[in-house]
Amino acid sequence: MRIAIDGPAGAGKSTVAKEVARRLGYAYIDTGAMYRAVALAALRAGIPAWDVEALSNLSGSVEIRLGSGEDGSTRVYLDGQDVSREIRAPEVSRFVSRVAEVPGVRRHLTEKQRRLAASGRVVMEGRDIGTVVLPDAERKFFITATVEERARRRYAEAAGEGYSISYEEQINEIMRRDSRDASRGVAPLIQAPDAVVIDTTGKSPGQVAETILSLVRGG
Ligand code: C5P
Repeated sequence: MRIAIDGPAGAGKSTVAKEVARRLGYAYIDTGAMYRAVALAALRAGIPAWDVEALSNLSGSVEIRLGSGEDGSTRVYLDGQDVSREIRAPEVSRFVSRVAEVPGVRRHLTEKQRRLAASGRVVMEGRDIGTVVLPDAERKFFITATVEERARRRYAEAAGEGYSISYEEQINEIMRRDSRDASRGVAPLIQAPDAVVIDTTGKSPGQVAETILSLVRGG
């Protein structure tokens, strides 16, 4: 079975998807981390957002690998280097939606994501999994929460990782990113018609994971 989990920034997708994957013994694939890795590579190489050809070539040539650390945490490797922390930096968060708009970048990453899901038994999380990457996934969920709650969560996460960005900046950043992600021409952030919508406002990740697990197991 392939489980697709989509939704806007900070809705709690990662924590929930990871927990669902762990409980089912499935692989967990964070596609946002892949877009972030390309954005980081572009920043390092000094490629500007308008140079869509260079961004597309870059996304086809970098090696992105998702793995897990010794402590069981999920890790992201860019050309063999662990960049799990760097991809969460505020400058990457600001740049990533620009990179994700480039059709060539999406084509490369979508192909890679489909390969990763080919053997089944995956929980894949992102923006376009149920609509574009795995339109025939057996289970689809669309996870949302109010923008205030999402900003609060991202604020706490960023602080935990040692990045200082205020709550107000976080709200602005989330709204800017959502609006870019939802309005782009290719694979916009949109709810698949056959996705189950879950509003996570006021709910713990554990509660949301339980809801998903009971729906998945229920047939
Ligand atoms: O999930 P996360 O917030 O880390 O995703 C970072 C960005 O990557 C999103 O804001 C979006 O621009 C892009 N993304 C995407 N398609 C996906 C996953 C992420 O465009 N499937």
